[in-house]
Amino acid sequence: MAEQTEGLYAAHEKVYPQNVRGFFRRLKWVILLVAYGVYFLLPYLRWGDRQAVLFDIPGRQFFLFGLRVAPEDIIWLSMLLFIAAVALFFITSLAGRVFCGYFCFQTLWTDVFLKIEAWVEGGRSRRIRLDKQPFTTEKAVKKVSKHALWLVVALLTGITFTLYFRDAPTLWAEFVTGQAPTVAFFTAGLLTATTYSMAGWAREQVCTYMCPYARFQGAMFDNDTLIVAYDYNRGERTKGRQPPTKGESHEERVARGAGDCIDCGYCVKVCPTGIDIREGQQYQCITCGLCIDACNTIMRSQGFPEGLIRYTSENELEGGKTHHLRPKIIAYAVILVAAIGVLAYSVATQSLMNLNVAKVRNPNYILEPDGRIKNVYELRVNNKDQEAHRYRVSMAGLPHSDYEIQGGFREFEIDPGDNLTVKAYVWVDPKPLEAERTHFTFRAERIDVPEGQENIVRQGRATFFVPERQL
Ligand code: SF4
Ligand code: SF4
Repeated sequence: MAEQTEGLYAAHEKVYPQNVRGFFRRLKWVILLVAYGVYFLLPYLRWGDRQAVLFDIPGRQFFLFGLRVAPEDIIWLSMLLFIAAVALFFITSLAGRVFCGYFCFQTLWTDVFLKIEAWVEGGRSRRIRLDKQPFTTEKAVKKVSKHALWLVVALLTGITFTLYFRDAPTLWAEFVTGQAPTVAFFTAGLLTATTYSMAGWAREQVCTYMCPYARFQGAMFDNDTLIVAYDYNRGERTKGRQPPTKGESHEERVARGAGDCIDCGYCVKVCPTGIDIREGQQYQCITCGLCIDACNTIMRSQGFPEGLIRYTSENELEGGKTHHLRPKIIAYAVILVAAIGVLAYSVATQSLMNLNVAKVRNPNYILEPDGRIKNVYELRVNNKDQEAHRYRVSMAGLPHSDYEIQGGFREFEIDPGDNLTVKAYVWVDPKPLEAERTHFTFRAERIDVPEGQENIVRQGRATFFVPERQL
């Protein structure tokens, strides 16, 4: 007899989420509108004579409203990433995958693509029928219209992304006339393709198979974490789920042991990831709350209390209480507030001028014909202000020395947000020196400070090197 083997491969089954109305659906639309408003309109917001939010890669600077971020402010980016990580731990421990269900780009764009699909092809059962029916003119028109609209949204998404990296009106004009840089066309094309394929085709499979967060978020959960859950005891009671009985009150239903779940399947039909929440917690659940809206609609129609599916916790489901204020949450909150405070302080007290000193080590020193030793340094003065300023560079702390700044000048002007890199040549008579390495400082000073205001000075430490045999 031939041995029968069961394949491990299961083909993907397309999910056709049904429309639902309710509190969480409305909340999701509001969040989506705000998110889309910010994403699509922010590039057109002006701040003085420039774009309010601009990632100027060629100029190696970012502008966030009145703040200019230069490469030397990389610490801010590190702090921002740290804050994002702690915030993720904090929110996930407190409210589960609430980020996935309400704020994630994949969720927001999939929602819009699904709305377009439902608008063009109709409700859930119509869409299922349309996919099953043979290819007709009506089907072709609907499919082409849907994909054309998806592509418009994807293209706008891709182009908008590039507007954050170049003056938006200028780049739009360059796109229209075909004069935009190749990298802008490439980036817009890439974003268009990924948006179209991820939000249009892959949808819930991104959350289920691609997103790493879905896999490790369980490690941050505990019995007090908020989850979307089906109240099994109430839904099943002793006799399990049963269709509604005409004329029976809720009290009578409860008395005969029938569960409140009437097995209508509405909660499954509205789920964007296609799961049945009644089977317990599943990693595919993005806690969007749509099954709550669906079940509450059914409960209201039956005259049963709402909340058979609800935001709750394992502890609450087992008859206990949800403890929101627990040591882990408090610790995350304290770290989060402290990190945000440090970042805010660092940004608020940032210096409007920087001086970086680097020794030129090739060669490490030069022996001059008159017996003096020459060392060379690279000085970079950074004007982080929004106006041009004049600066003076000097040196101190190195006896028997002389120095010269490249080009023979010691004062210069730097444009707003720009920097100047110059070489500094330092000569020393080595005889009075006692060590191979002598520390000294370069000093950069803003010299156009209005009278009565505090002078802005930055110092950079440097080391003068003399070979041992010259001492
Ligand atoms: S089970 Fe409910 S909360 Fe979870 S993804 Fe599906 S509809 Fe959203
Ligand atoms: S929507 Fe509510 S009543 Fe209907 S199947 Fe789901 S849990 Fe049961």
